Formats: sequence, C-alpha cells, structure tokens
Amino acid sequence: MSAKIIDGKAIAATIRGEIAAEVEQMKAQFGRVPGLAAVLVGERRDSQTYVRMKKKACAEVGITSFGYTLPADVSQDELLKLVQDLNANPDVHGILVQLPLPDHIDDETILGAISIEKDVDGFHPLNIGRLSMKRRAPLFVPCTPRGCIELLDRSGIEIEGKRAVVLGRSNIVGLPAAMLLLHRNATLTVCHSRTKNLPGVVREADILIAAVGRPEMVKGDWIKPGAAVIDVGVNAVDDPTKKKGYRLVGDVDFAEAKEVAGYLTPVPGGVGPMTIAMLLRNTMDSAKRQVGMA
Ligand code: NDP
Repeated sequence: MSAKIIDGKAIAATIRGEIAAEVEQMKAQFGRVPGLAAVLVGERRDSQTYVRMKKKACAEVGITSFGYTLPADVSQDELLKLVQDLNANPDVHGILVQLPLPDHIDDETILGAISIEKDVDGFHPLNIGRLSMKRRAPLFVPCTPRGCIELLDRSGIEIEGKRAVVLGRSNIVGLPAAMLLLHRNATLTVCHSRTKNLPGVVREADILIAAVGRPEMVKGDWIKPGAAVIDVGVNAVDDPTKKKGYRLVGDVDFAEAKEVAGYLTPVPGGVGPMTIAMLLRNTMDSAKRQVGMA
C-alpha cells in the first residue's frame, strides 16, 4: 500500500487564492483592506525569517502588513504600549507578536494584552479558554492546528467518530489540535513524554497528528494501515550531501509511513505552508468581522 500524499503547498495555494478574492471583494464593497501588524523583538535569525515569510505572504494576497522591529532589550512596558497602540489602530485587524520573546519579557502578559478581536495567532488566554469549552467558539484558532484540520477536511478525511491520537501537548500545537479534534467528535488520545507504550497507543489511530519535535520518531510499524497521518514536526538533521549541510525531516519516518498510511503529509510541503495560509485566513476573517462583511 502506498499512502496518498497530502500536498500542503497546493492546498495552501488554493486557500491563498480564496483569500485574495475576498480581499478584492472587501476593497470593492468597503474600500478597505485587511491589515496585519507583525512585531519582532530582537534579532533571532529564525524569527526574522518567519516574519519575512509572513509579510511576503500578506503582500501576495493583498493584505497590508505593518512591521515593527524592537531591540532585544526593549522594556516590557514599551512593548505593551506598542500592542495597545495597535489594538487602537483601525487599519490593523490582526496583531502577531513573534515568539519566543526575550527572557525578561513575560509572554503571557504580552499575549494577554492583544485585543481578542485582533488575536490572529489565537494565543490569547481567552481564545484558548473558549477553544477548550463546549459551545464557546473562539474568535481565532491557532494557525498550525487549524491548518492540520483544514488538510484533513480538504482531503475528504472524515473526523467524526474516528480514533484520533495527538502526539504532543504543547500550547501552540498539540493541545489546540486535540481540542479541535474533540469538537469535531473524534475519540481522542493525547500522548506526551510520559506516555507508556507509545507505539501501541499510536497504532490505534485512524487519524494521527504528530507534533513532538523528534526527527522520524514515528516508525512505519506504529501506524495503523490506512490511517491519515499529519506530520507537524520540522527537524533539521545533518546531511553532508546538502549545500546547507542539513535537511528537514518530520516527526514521522516518511519512507516507512508511506508504505502503511492511507494519507500522509510530507515535510517540508505539508503542514508548514498551511500555518501561514491560516494566519492570512484569520487576518481576513478578523477584517471581515470588523468591517461587517458577510
Ligand atoms: P514542544 O517542544 O513545545 O512540545 C513537544 C511535545 O512533544 C511535548 O508535549 C512533549 O511532551 C512531547 N514529546 C517530546 N518528546 C517526546 C517523546 N520522546 N515521546 C512522546 N512525547 C514527546 O514542541 P511544539 O509543539 O512547539 O512543536 C512540535 C514540532 O512541530 C516541532 O518539530 C516544531 O518545529 C514543529 N512545528 C511546526 C510548525 C509548522 O508550521 N509546521 C509550527 C509549530 C511547530 P511533554 O509535554 O511531556 O514534555
């Protein structure tokens, strides 16, 4: 058996096309365009790359991006003041504070200061709280988990009634992904570093979302034949044959998994492009709410 490979790049491109059309419609109907503010603190290379990619993606669909780069030693009060100014700015429909923040800044305070109406990353404690409750729809769902569900939906994979296993319980991926599966009526197991007999538990999954950050940990014989496997992991492993000296692999052993799974996402080109597409989706949805577009 060879798994159907879920092409996250192609699905993300379709979503970006849908958003670009909505931006045009908003311009025509309301004379407005969505705006996303990206706040970067310090000079981490990876964070600079992520922010650059997000701004480029905004430009491609017609969303205006506002960039703010603050020095690594900025005070918490100064950062809070910027967030408050952005909360009050009517041209800004989404605020994204790139994580991680320097140690002297309390991220919970900063994320909690973002207006829940502009919390396009979905990390505000109120949005996360609502996500955890029945019939309390959050205004925004965190982008990576939302992207995982979108990949399942757009691949025609039924979630209701299925056995789902989420490998990992982080605030930004595992936990919200688990909540989303539960809301969609999957029967859910969440695994973590203390889970006993991990392969045995994973083998029960009709749907597996792997988000552990351990290169190729999930082997082919952990996977139930025909299962849908969404690999969130992005891990750099040494590879002297590559120009950069490394290559990216997921948390799932792709070569083994594709012989067993029914559906499988590649790394790169699976969940990654969906994370950015969902950030654009959340920003668009926020702008639509704020201008009153149906
Ligand atoms: P975290 O390190 O925050 O969480 C990892 C989770 O995996 C924890 O819950 C941890 O358990 C669990 N875990 C770690 N080791 C094991 C193990 N040996 N057995 C079982 N469980 C284990 O990672 P993130 O959730 O932030 O990210 C996970 C992966 O997803 C990373 O590779 C990251 O790069 C990638 N990622 C990709 C994104 C994308 O857009 N494609 C976006 C965000 C992340 P415990 O809670 O017990 O410590």
